[in-house]
Amino acid sequence: MDNQFFRQAMGKFTTGVTVITTKVDEGVHGMTANAFMSISLEPKLVTISIDNRAKMLDKIKASGKYAVSFLSDQQLDISMHFAGQKQMDQEIAFDYIQEIPIIPNALASVVCDVDQTYQVGDHTLFIGRVLDISVNNGEPLTFFSGKYGKNQQLEYVKN
Ligand code: FAD
Repeated sequence: MDNQFFRQAMGKFTTGVTVITTKVDEGVHGMTANAFMSISLEPKLVTISIDNRAKMLDKIKASGKYAVSFLSDQQLDISMHFAGQKQMDQEIAFDYIQEIPIIPNALASVVCDVDQTYQVGDHTLFIGRVLDISVNNGEPLTFFSGKYGKNQQLEYVKN
């Protein structure tokens, strides 16, 4: 199967947009990601999928911890910055939960210890055991067919 056709099909699955953050001796590292999934309630586990070429891979392996911040529709510039698509003019300030950096004003942030690591094809899955979370009000930034968007609620009208 053609790679472009596979990517085109997978892009039809609408997602939110997150920034994954971690902290190592050299400092904080962040990257934009939409491959996030909540996987278990008891125990509370989530997973992320990191390209084996991303700098984030070795950072998470070194720290053994990461945070996932769900971006709001007011944070397009943050997403583009951490995807390397466009640099922000001002320095990025981080908040911290249990000494792990998170993106301020994100809709929610989930802070994890790495529980299990699986290299799967050209990506690595980091299953995280949730240590703490924070939640804020707002509307999500979305990603569909390679483009950013906003959430639109539909009203069900009964005939
Ligand atoms: P870099 O490319 O070096 O860093 C990314 C950017 O973050 C750079 O601009 C850097 O300057 C900035 N940055 C990092 N740390 C800091 C800091 N402390 N302060 C200020 N700026 C900082 N890739 C995946 O592997 N998995 C995914 O699920 C995924 N989903 C994506 C979803 C979307 C919507 C987009 C647009 C991209 C996605 N990517 C994903 C691609 C990924 O975001 C990029 O390939 C990214 O550049 C990889 O980052 P890196 O760790 O290699 O580091």
